[in-house]
Amino acid sequence: MVDWKELDIANPTEEHAMLRGMVRDWVSSEVEPQALEFDRNEQFNVNLMREMGELGLLGITAQEEYGGAGMDALAAAIVHEEISYSDPAFALSYLAHSMLFVNNLARNGSDEQKSSVLPKVCSGEWIAAMAMSEPDVGTDVMSMSTTAEQRPDGSWVINGRKMWITNGCIDDDGTPCDVVWTYAKTGVDSNGRSQISTFLVYADSPGFSVGQKIVDKTGMRASNTAELVYDDCIVSADSLVGSQGESMIHMMRNLELERLTLGAMSVGIARRAVFEMNRYASEREAFGKPIRKFGQIQRYIGQSFAEWRAMEAYLYNVARKMDLEKSGQRLDSDGIKLVSTTLAKEIADRAMQVMGGYGYVGEYVVERLWRDAKLLEIGGGTLESHQKNITNDLSKDSSILG
Ligand SMILES: Cc1cc2nc3c(=O)[nH]c(=O)nc-3n(C[C@H](O)[C@H](O)[C@H](O)COP(=O)(O)OP(=O)(O)OC[C@H]3O[C@@H](n4cnc5c(N)ncnc54)[C@H](O)[C@@H]3O)c2cc1C
Repeated sequence: MVDWKELDIANPTEEHAMLRGMVRDWVSSEVEPQALEFDRNEQFNVNLMREMGELGLLGITAQEEYGGAGMDALAAAIVHEEISYSDPAFALSYLAHSMLFVNNLARNGSDEQKSSVLPKVCSGEWIAAMAMSEPDVGTDVMSMSTTAEQRPDGSWVINGRKMWITNGCIDDDGTPCDVVWTYAKTGVDSNGRSQISTFLVYADSPGFSVGQKIVDKTGMRASNTAELVYDDCIVSADSLVGSQGESMIHMMRNLELERLTLGAMSVGIARRAVFEMNRYASEREAFGKPIRKFGQIQRYIGQSFAEWRAMEAYLYNVARKMDLEKSGQRLDSDGIKLVSTTLAKEIADRAMQVMGGYGYVGEYVVERLWRDAKLLEIGGGTLESHQKNITNDLSKDSSILG
């Protein structure tokens, strides 16, 4: 048992520290060198993603018996933070695959579904996505219009469109990813509320296609985003995950891990931005001295350093306590995402300011971090949705406040 005063909150066990060391080395040698090129070309580095299967990272929270690493939420946070230090867009694609699909299936799938699909997505043979948002519905997710109806033979017909789906297509030709965790409405309950169910939709499911690859995004350009079309799409009876109508629980539970890991991405962006501005402030001279001697530059660096440390402490405190088998941890998963995403954007902005004109061009990294950071205030829940959730949850239980 480690002396509690010695506990490193970001690496609480030797296993976590080893994971961080391994991922950091890999990111430095494999992820960093490709990041700018794939951003500029708006391409998803699918081969690099597949490589992560060999490292055991694609199934980081999936059970070992199905090819996963069997690790916890804190381990997932470590991987997202380390990748985002170099390439937040690649981290977003990793998140869509490993958190939104793999973890969801590992927690909610049947033994048969887990045995047949998890080994393929954990190894990188298959690339996966999660489709919740639609052209007309984002935050108001219960109003989704995609429907699934069961046919007499037990199979399901899905109709609708999904929008903004990370990994929805894997290349510029619109090749779909291999499997999509698809939410659809399968009825209404006695109170008139939508019943949401989950279906595993495969690249070759009849009636399923990529509508378009969404291009010219502000940031996250190395992560593919697609519109998906379900036009009388047929999936077999065993594609339904869990029981009909119970997916609200799947969705809410997985959103907690999604928000935690989006928070971890923010911490990675912030740490890199502080690193870059700190380095530059020593190298750059003006008026006969390094710019770090100027009070206004010190304010940017000092403020950013302290905010990054605060983000890191909050993130790993929430991650340490997150139980992947349970829901009900939304207060702090929304909290870490709410506070850290805006801080990451502001810290990247300060880094650009410290670096002057150089900060404004791609080679110096921070302009990409700045563009990528903005998405984190929107995807996986907007800032406003977190404000709403936190305030609602505190109205039910404010015991944490004393
Ligand atoms: C690059 C990218 C990748 C994405 N990846 C995925 C993915 O893999 N899978 C997926 O399913 N989705 C994905 N999304 C969609 C993302 O989750 C949504 O964009 C997000 O949930 C917001 O929904 P919306 O864009 O429809 O905005 P809306 O929900 O229409 O919101 C518009 C504005 O209204 C505000 N608003 C809405 N309701 C309220 C309210 N009750 N109170 C106050 N303000 C409110 C919002 O906060 C926002 O400011 C992605 C989006 C992007 C841009």
